[in-house]
Amino acid sequence: MAATAAALTPLELHPAFPLLPQRAALLLQWPASMDRVRELVHSLRNSRRRHVQLMAAKQLTQLLQAQPVFSTAPGEQPQLADPGVHWDFLAAGGMQAALHLLCRVEQVGKVTAANLMYAACVVPEAATQLAADGGVQPLVQLLECTAADGASGIRRAALCTLALAAEQCDTVQDAAVAAGCVPLLVAILQEPNDSDHVANAAAVLSALVLRPGVHTEVLLTSGAAAALVRHVPDESCVCEISLTALSRLTGEPSPLRSEAVAAVAAAGGIPAAVQCLNGPSSALNWPSSEELAWTVPQLAAGLLANMAEVCPQLAADIQAAGAVPRLEWMLRNSTHRDERGWAATALANIRKAAAAAAADSGAAAQAAGPAAAALPRMCAAPGCGNTRGLRRCGGCHTVLYCSAGCSKAHWRQHKPECRRLQAEAVAGAAAAGAKQGSSAAGDR
Ligand SMILES: [Zn+2]
Ligand SMILES: [Zn+2]
Repeated sequence: MAATAAALTPLELHPAFPLLPQRAALLLQWPASMDRVRELVHSLRNSRRRHVQLMAAKQLTQLLQAQPVFSTAPGEQPQLADPGVHWDFLAAGGMQAALHLLCRVEQVGKVTAANLMYAACVVPEAATQLAADGGVQPLVQLLECTAADGASGIRRAALCTLALAAEQCDTVQDAAVAAGCVPLLVAILQEPNDSDHVANAAAVLSALVLRPGVHTEVLLTSGAAAALVRHVPDESCVCEISLTALSRLTGEPSPLRSEAVAAVAAAGGIPAAVQCLNGPSSALNWPSSEELAWTVPQLAAGLLANMAEVCPQLAADIQAAGAVPRLEWMLRNSTHRDERGWAATALANIRKAAAAAAADSGAAAQAAGPAAAALPRMCAAPGCGNTRGLRRCGGCHTVLYCSAGCSKAHWRQHKPECRRLQAEAVAGAAAAGAKQGSSAAGDR
């Protein structure tokens, strides 16, 4: 039994989900049954006595949290080993009962109810149910509570629940934005605050940028980019979460992508990200967690790669901030494949932008400095950095990929460029006559 428990990575190890304490202790103690779940949901819904309701809510929370969780790679959703109890809870009407409690009771009860929703929202079905039951707006309203004593627990419970539910469900994201959560989250990031609150507020914002462009406008007009940049140099998981949100904001194709990059740059995102490239060896006191130690430099390199790609004129600032030597060091020495891949992508984008800037200004390519050195031939998929086994894109015959997987992963971003390159090739061939040959010439 001990071996089974040890093989599970508890959810609380994930920095965005700090609310589940005694999970490991509970793992082996709660043989859940559907009857028990129904009975507790019944007490929660129907009891006239508040203490009975609260006790039922607490026991349901423990039952839900006692389910083993297989945590996954950063950026992926943790998975339940067996979501049976969660489905029983939903089938018995548990989410409506929790919401009813949330909207009726005093502060302590609100925390209990929000924690129950949080425990349930580990499964995407519960997040969907939460949105369908109209539970997002009351949770957002709880964010308006001031940070004074008792309200701190409410805010934390509401933020955790929103972060987890929004990460899994589009309708939760939409309902949260419609309820006006973005300015409240930005305010939490801007006030001097408990680092848990800041981490969870950043996690909700990060979930709101999962779908490229959908909520970008409200995020930018509310100052979310600047509020997140402010926390990039933090010495905690807030840094990782903020960088994740900013990478999502600047990384996906969206009409507002260049505005997002400009907002990040204006807020000082470049020096902040470069500071993070130094990861564990920097002057900052980084957490000893291995996951964070490699995730932070990787995310920082990804953010810089996005910025150089979208706004080539920022390449000079990125170089001036000292990114290039550090990225080159990462590319040569990092033991993490993802870190090397993002360093390679960032360097390629910086060099491309620097070369374009040098060509624009009419100067020789060398004038752009060391970053204008010859471009390495590498896979075009962001974060890959592979230099071997490259094959040309079947559409434009120009862009290189190491595998079908990378080509597929990059297609949404590459598609407009691919069409443009094909059109240019056709136009070029027509202008130069047949003797000029194929546009894909020159590959050895
Ligand atoms: Zn690749
Ligand atoms: Zn192509």
